[in-house]
Amino acid sequence: MANKGKTFIIAGPSGVGKGTIIDRLFKVQPDLYFSVSATTRAPRPGEQDGVHYHFLTREQFASWIEEGAFLEYAEFVGNFYGTPKRYVDEAMAAGRDVILDIEVQGAELVHRQRPETVRIFVAPPSWEELERRLLHRGTEDPEKVRGRLIRSREEFLLARYYDYLVINNDLDRAVEEIRAIMMAEHCRAGDRYDSLGSVLREPV
Ligand code: 5GP
Repeated sequence: MANKGKTFIIAGPSGVGKGTIIDRLFKVQPDLYFSVSATTRAPRPGEQDGVHYHFLTREQFASWIEEGAFLEYAEFVGNFYGTPKRYVDEAMAAGRDVILDIEVQGAELVHRQRPETVRIFVAPPSWEELERRLLHRGTEDPEKVRGRLIRSREEFLLARYYDYLVINNDLDRAVEEIRAIMMAEHCRAGDRYDSLGSVLREPV
């Protein structure tokens, strides 16, 4: 039996570099499936609808909830974000690994429904560095940056309960660690045993 696709959650505070890490992962492993979330947040310059997010109005988001379209959704600093369920399931059924770039509440909801999901928390090397990156990015006004930093404090408290913790001190190293985690997860004996096939056959 072919190795089935697995879902990997990449969580961690806003500004920690999850997006950059994921872009790099795709360069080396283009067969991954990145789950494009829906959000009520306005697009940033350069963000494309259907590529970075499905940009929805609050009304549209509410009707997606009503239709049961989300695997999870959560409120984050004044906006809603959600993972469309259908595409995740289709990708996994096709044997592809799925990457979810989501915040901690959503991660918890997915893990509760699907305990086999692998949770990776990406942390910054220091608090000062996170502040610097968020301010430097310049994508949010100072008030929103403050909201995101406050939220980060809460997120850090949950990091210890994750399956893996990656510290994004050096981008190459962080990508390498995540690739190693993904590879190791595919070597789990429980998952692989059935694919042994002829090795398990009785000698004649
Ligand atoms: P941003 O506005 O910076 O793109 O995203 C803000 C936060 O929302 C990030 O931590 C990001 O990982 C998270 N996020 C993005 N998509 C989803 C989603 O579908 N569900 C949840 N729960 N969080 C999401």
